[in-house]
Amino acid sequence: MAEIVPDISTEQQDIRQTKLAQYAAATRTKVLASPSDLDAKDKVMQEMAAWCREQGNIVVLKSATILSSDPTSRNIQNCKSLLLSKGIHPGHVYAAKQSFLDLLMDSSDEENVSKRQKGETTATFSDQQRHLRDLVGEAIKQDVSDIHIQVRQTYTRIRMRQHGELKIYAEWSEKLGREIASVAFNKETDHATSHFNPMLPQDASMPLKIRGNEVRLRLASVPAHGGFDMVMRILATGEERKGKTLDELGYTDRQIEIIKMSMRLPFGAIIVAGPTGSGKTTTLASCMEMVEPTAKLYSIEDPVEKVVEAATQVPVNTEKEDRSFAMMGRAALRMDPDVIILGEMRDEDTASVMVRASITGHLVLTTLHTNRATAIVTRLVDMGISPDLLGDSSVLRCLMCQRLAVKVCPSCAVAVVDSPRHQKYIAAWEEVLGKEVIARAKARGNGCEKCGRSGVGGRVVVAEVIWVDDEGRQFIQKCDTLGWERYLKENGWLDFRDRAIDLIQAGICDPFDAEKVVGPINPSTLAKVFKY
Ligand SMILES: [Zn+2]
Repeated sequence: MAEIVPDISTEQQDIRQTKLAQYAAATRTKVLASPSDLDAKDKVMQEMAAWCREQGNIVVLKSATILSSDPTSRNIQNCKSLLLSKGIHPGHVYAAKQSFLDLLMDSSDEENVSKRQKGETTATFSDQQRHLRDLVGEAIKQDVSDIHIQVRQTYTRIRMRQHGELKIYAEWSEKLGREIASVAFNKETDHATSHFNPMLPQDASMPLKIRGNEVRLRLASVPAHGGFDMVMRILATGEERKGKTLDELGYTDRQIEIIKMSMRLPFGAIIVAGPTGSGKTTTLASCMEMVEPTAKLYSIEDPVEKVVEAATQVPVNTEKEDRSFAMMGRAALRMDPDVIILGEMRDEDTASVMVRASITGHLVLTTLHTNRATAIVTRLVDMGISPDLLGDSSVLRCLMCQRLAVKVCPSCAVAVVDSPRHQKYIAAWEEVLGKEVIARAKARGNGCEKCGRSGVGGRVVVAEVIWVDDEGRQFIQKCDTLGWERYLKENGWLDFRDRAIDLIQAGICDPFDAEKVVGPINPSTLAKVFKY
């Protein structure tokens, strides 16, 4: 039988909205609709929470401020009497949207649940801890990757990195910034033994429970002139996100074919390179899904971010030498593995584990910080691996390098030729890319409902993928990256610039955003010989 859902007709809703707006106008206030309309410290008053829940359309805050979606009702009087009977002087009455009241009650409930789960009482769960949770919760809601907290002598500036770009989120007092940082380090981290000292660079891992989800963050701080900086990177949001396929990430069909081919190799190294925050771990996870279920898979991670049942995930502790990447990698090699994933090659030691694992007949997947796929070789030589060894046919097999480019929101994007901001550059782009490409290109629009007024529709991977062949190995042995790239291009290989141009032409990336990945696109920067 169909469930009967009680519904309020739109007509009744309209009448309510009008009444709210009239009340707000009469009291020279506005209809409160979101947390930003309130003082961040002002939460639901716990003594009144049960009564408010019964009423449904009224919320009393700690400051004794009363919010109601029906501010002219008799209930307001009842509320005031109840407050007075508790010895609390009632504050102002404000008109508020019902959806906002529901949100306030929900977050108050969740807070209590999380407190109970942590075995904490209202009294020990400090304002700062609540503030920290609000901040992280808001960041997760907005799909933010990092929270930057800049504490100086007179202020704290909070910025958030969303789709790769830093945006101002809030300004706090210097005191609150310091308090949040020390609460994060001293109360919430895994090993809350060390005391937070803003004069020293420090880092820690922080698990938090937010809205019932296990959230994991990495904290780092450095001293700065007049204060310190702290960055919180969100590693796991606890929400079960389905792993993206390489195709969804932005790899081309041909690139995926090459990766799949290398994943079927019995031994050798597959390396994913790219700058910090370019999504290397996500790509590694998609590759991990391709491993045959009959293969024994060891994954050495720091920290373990997402549980993968098919693999044995070995956590690393970088602070302890006997639990480093290299040590854990060597230990995994003794466990009869078929595939080893080394979360990150950080030093000579890990690089030599990678080489040893591949020449002893294992498939190794790992990541490295470099800016180009061909530069992986240079970096490994720099880490003490000999070019001869790197040129061995059982070592390097597939090299990838990736970066992330911002996509335009398809709902509000405009044609580049119609965008005033772009006019100055169109001639240069047309000269390099051709008129047809620019005619089809799209620019970020002014934002719409769908993109939260940002004009951005997520990010796409821009990647270089190299299958290391016999010819390539000769260039590797000579460390001749320029000659190697020339050879690759002659054989139809796509580098970052080619991929960026594809994305401009397809109307996926604004040329300005593509330039952030490959640098300025104009005849001078592209010339083989730069004319002064
Ligand atoms: Zn939009």
